[in-house]
Amino acid sequence: NAKKRQIENILYQRLDNRIKQLLQNIGKTGNELGFNMFVVGGFVRDLLLSRQIDDIDIVVEGDGIEFAKTYAKKEGCRINTYKKFGTAVIIYPDNFKIDVASARLEYYKTPAALPIVEKSSIKLDLARRDFTINTLAISLNPDNFGTMIDYFGANRDLKDKTIRTIHNLSFVEDPTRIFRAIKFSNRFGFKIGKVTSNLIKNAITIDCFKNLSGLRVLSELKQIFEEENPIPAIKTMESYGLEKVLHKDLTLIPNTYQLLESVNKILSWHDLLYMDEPYPRWAVYFMAMLNRCSYKVCEQICTRLNVPLRERGILLEKRYKAEKQLNLIESSSTYTKQELYWTLINFKTEYILYMMALVKDEEIKKAISNFYTHQRGIKPYIKGRDLLKLGLKPGPVFSAIIKQVLNAKLDGQLKTRKEEIQFAAAYAEKTNLLIKS
Ligand code: ATP
Repeated sequence: NAKKRQIENILYQRLDNRIKQLLQNIGKTGNELGFNMFVVGGFVRDLLLSRQIDDIDIVVEGDGIEFAKTYAKKEGCRINTYKKFGTAVIIYPDNFKIDVASARLEYYKTPAALPIVEKSSIKLDLARRDFTINTLAISLNPDNFGTMIDYFGANRDLKDKTIRTIHNLSFVEDPTRIFRAIKFSNRFGFKIGKVTSNLIKNAITIDCFKNLSGLRVLSELKQIFEEENPIPAIKTMESYGLEKVLHKDLTLIPNTYQLLESVNKILSWHDLLYMDEPYPRWAVYFMAMLNRCSYKVCEQICTRLNVPLRERGILLEKRYKAEKQLNLIESSSTYTKQELYWTLINFKTEYILYMMALVKDEEIKKAISNFYTHQRGIKPYIKGRDLLKLGLKPGPVFSAIIKQVLNAKLDGQLKTRKEEIQFAAAYAEKTNLLIKS
């Protein structure tokens, strides 16, 4: 009871009112349907670690879809259901989402007198999870709201700051968990338990990745690269020899780590200033990791990981283009501000940041950063229709004039729309482009 009160207190102290209310409503609605309701996994883990909570995962001992339908109706939400898996997503009008899964109550005929045994299926549901720290559940039904369920020693491992699997075949059963262990250990600053660490080594020794779909490894790798600072995780991966799972010739040398460190600095700078401008953060780390590889090795890594075509373009063709372009800029002493603009404007954020991490010359780095912060957003006020009004005939000349306007703007010569029109007219006159006259 004291424990229950303690968890209830944590729920009350750490959660905002909306989530608290929502959990209570979930418990009530489920209870009315005769289901046991739990909030599970990452939610409980992050709650106890006082970390920001992103997802709400609900497990229903009963029919999750029936619950989701009833709840959504009451609360005015939409739902997506996945019959085959007994799962649903409840979506609030403001797009806030709750994931619901079913853990059906299982009934077993016993040979003896008692006909049916009800097995606690939340336990089975939790037993399928990757690590002990992800196996916590909190009851939500009104009678036991706030009771914490810990079958696998999760509280002990959270206290010990340790990542442990639930059973010894865990990594053989699903080798992607090796990457997940490293991700969680890096994110929380936890160690990987000794037995668990040995299980990882054994799984790698028996070549557990041989039959694993590349796409699943890619997905876990991306998640690691999306962490705030993935470098310690990359080091841990290397300590287990996991880079060889990607390619036998992939080697991470001190230079690679230096580049990764500078990627990390650049991305922190960027993300602080441009929080609302998403870009594939993972790709910048990945490009840096592949920086020293030959094209052929990179290609084979992409094939091994089933990298989808578009992302293959990032890691192969476009990355090489960015590197080549940077070489040109660094080896030329006559690059003007405008030339730099017209070069860089063709590259998306991820490549610009990659170039900034790669560049050696501080002046060029400053120029690229200036392009990113000041110039890339500059757009001329003037449009095609202004040029029509000037009596110009539409055609390639339009973009040539707009380019000139932009160049003058980058130079700080033009401030207003009127100035731009005057400039365009003068330029057209000078170059004899007017149809009328
Ligand atoms: P994150 O904050 O990274 O989203 P999470 O714990 O919510 O962390 P998810 O990847 O969203 O992780 O997975 C949700 C739950 O599903 C986890 O709590 C985990 O226990 C379980 N899970 C995910 N992948 C696996 C796996 N490969 N094997 C076993 N359980 C898994």
